[in-house]
Amino acid sequence: MIWNANMTNDKTISGLGEFGLIDRINSRVEKTADVITGIGDDAAVTAISPAMQLLTSTDMLLEDVHFRLSWHDPYRLGRKSLAVSISDIAAMGGLPRWALLSLAIPTVLPVDFLDDFTRGFLDMAAEHGVCLIGGDTCSSRKGLVISVTIMGEQQPERILRRSGAKPGDEIWVTGTLGDAAHGLRLLESGSSNVEEDETIFVSRLLDPTPRVSAGLALAESGLVNAMIDVSDGIIADFGHIAGQSSVGGRLRLDNLPLSPSFLRTCGHDRKLPYHLALSGGEDYELCFTAPPENHEKIIACVKKCGVEATPVGIVTSSPEVVAVHVDGTPYNLPNKGFNHFT
Ligand code: ADP
Ligand code: MG
Repeated sequence: MIWNANMTNDKTISGLGEFGLIDRINSRVEKTADVITGIGDDAAVTAISPAMQLLTSTDMLLEDVHFRLSWHDPYRLGRKSLAVSISDIAAMGGLPRWALLSLAIPTVLPVDFLDDFTRGFLDMAAEHGVCLIGGDTCSSRKGLVISVTIMGEQQPERILRRSGAKPGDEIWVTGTLGDAAHGLRLLESGSSNVEEDETIFVSRLLDPTPRVSAGLALAESGLVNAMIDVSDGIIADFGHIAGQSSVGGRLRLDNLPLSPSFLRTCGHDRKLPYHLALSGGEDYELCFTAPPENHEKIIACVKKCGVEATPVGIVTSSPEVVAVHVDGTPYNLPNKGFNHFT
């Protein structure tokens, strides 16, 4: 179901009230053993594992900034709201454990929408062993606002930060790049035009898969120096590793992992696939750096998790991040990835 404001016949959130709505969410939550007190008290109580450090991250999703209700069905919106936060824990090499969900909801939103959203959110939670332990609920005068806080854990020596990259490291990325940005272009061009073999790109955008098992395996392997998830395009996100590690990098265009169907359906503009792969957002793949001698072990390590990793470049001591053609000539980027204020 895609919701629009003209669907006024449905039962709406205003009939439920704040506490009816919280009860409705709570009745669907399955508590995990580590949650001593979940939704319903002033604060949740959880048992954290000894010798672990807590990883915490929060993300906001705003209607018409991060999602459009004409594109995002409520079930996949629920899944994605949690997936993008889980991806942040994966990017630290952590195990996601608990989530808080805060919602500002237009009073005209149908209860069916909230039910489907909650089902999507809780399905994603169950797939990753995450328990919803609280949140906040209020009404919104304009648009749906979703804020998710995620907590995870990892042993201190295994946590992977942006700041550990060393000159000479190989730059790696999991999966394929550009698919979600291609999906966005397809939706922007009019969703009725999306062909059968192009639905994969739209679902990469609307229903991303956080790379939790690969992140954990890499953290436990001790093979990796730095890691980040690719949410704003690899140029921008590797740029964060570079900035925090005081290094730069050379990304090779011919090494970028582009799926064959992506290349086939990207049209006749030869630059477009590279542009989408480097600067398009929302892939939620992992980008990491590791010493070249770990190359074979890294391939084996991520393969066990059912994903592929591809070396896409080299960390340099000079601070620039550049993309180069196979002959070493620089590739001019049209833009450097998504930024809310530029
Ligand atoms: P308080 O007034 O003390 O902040 P609330 O009335 O906001 O408490 O919340 C009551 C309980 O419901 C708390 O446990 C809170 O974490 C939980 N809660 C509120 N909104 C949500 C939500 N959208 N999803 C999950 N839990 C929620
Ligand atoms: Mg509250």
